[in-house]
Amino acid sequence: MKRVFLKTFGCRTNIYDSQIIAEHIKDFSLVKSEEDADIVVVNSCTVTNSADSSARSYINSLQNSGKKVILAGCGAISKGETLFKNGKIFGVLGHSEKKNINELLKKESRFFEPGDLVSIDETIVEDFSSRTKAFIKIQEGCDFNCSYCIIPSVRGGARSQSEELILIQIEKLAANGYGEFVLTGTNIGSYGKDKNSSIAKLLKKISFIKGVRRVRLGSLEPVQIDDEFMELLDEDWLEKHLHIALQHTSVEMLKIMRRRNDLYGDLRLFESIAQKGFALGTDFIVGHPGESEKIWREGVDNFKRFPITHLHAFSYSKREGTHSAKMSREVNGRVAKERLKILQEIVDENSYSFRKRFSHELVVLVEERKGEYQVGYDQFFNRVHIKSPLELEKEWVSLKDVTVKKEGNFAFMD
Ligand code: SF4
Repeated sequence: MKRVFLKTFGCRTNIYDSQIIAEHIKDFSLVKSEEDADIVVVNSCTVTNSADSSARSYINSLQNSGKKVILAGCGAISKGETLFKNGKIFGVLGHSEKKNINELLKKESRFFEPGDLVSIDETIVEDFSSRTKAFIKIQEGCDFNCSYCIIPSVRGGARSQSEELILIQIEKLAANGYGEFVLTGTNIGSYGKDKNSSIAKLLKKISFIKGVRRVRLGSLEPVQIDDEFMELLDEDWLEKHLHIALQHTSVEMLKIMRRRNDLYGDLRLFESIAQKGFALGTDFIVGHPGESEKIWREGVDNFKRFPITHLHAFSYSKREGTHSAKMSREVNGRVAKERLKILQEIVDENSYSFRKRFSHELVVLVEERKGEYQVGYDQFFNRVHIKSPLELEKEWVSLKDVTVKKEGNFAFMD
């Protein structure tokens, strides 16, 4: 039996997509490293230049290994044709072709199957054996048109998974012992728009499933948070942390980026959610074309007013084919790095104050052992390091005596 290694780059959606690919590989054995494999399937990401170059250098490193390399994921759509023509890869597997992987892997001749960007995969993933939490992909694609973003062109427009399939999948995983569910997708807040439903309606139904203890959400857009969603914030099964993508906090910059959110609405939204005891995360892009010193100053002054405790900030990365790619860049890499550091310092302070305020009872799902600690995430999506003689992996623990330090939360359990 030939051996296949599945290499995953990128986001939670890609982790999930790799699981789908693995479910469909029937006549090959899956191995844990490329050294042991005859075939390597690279599930790639293309969201930034560095994501592209990571996948490209990985593919280059396999060139003289005698292994067949198959390119899947977003990079298969953006770079697949070029790499295929250059003979760097044996095959191209588009998003909609995952279900055919088993047959394609048997091919003796090279194949180019980019598929389409309108279908949605209906595979039910029943087990995530190496993980403590289960990822559920509830939708695919995005209808927004942010000026810098390549995602809609490599994942297509927003389309929702069938509600019935999602609920069946969660029921099966809950019966397999999973208690925590992470809902993922390209733009999950758009769930249901094509099905006369909404993410709030879906969440309510998920909460009724026996065994569902905690639901985490991927990234939401501010404009998608409506009254129906706000009503869920008091539910104890919803993680007390939301990730709401702002991307910037300058009025002018949001216009340049063609974002749908507006600064003052965002501020009101964050304040009202924070008042309910939520930790809040966001995405932020620094160094986008047009981010002059004046715009940056405005952005950072506004940013300080937001109760943000978790940050995913990155430097602008030019993506060919996007509107922003036609604009000239004014911010060099060194300045962008300094700007990232300023944002991170603000959020580190916010996080420290938040954790000191909300440490009286932390409910942690322990995920792994790291040196002398067993580590997991609490209900606010903060990492907690636990010292204990007990074997806690995959256990839920409730901690009342937590030492909060700037670098993290620590506890002892005997
Ligand atoms: S919301 Fe904007 S940034 Fe997010 S995937 Fe859609 S187009 Fe890209």
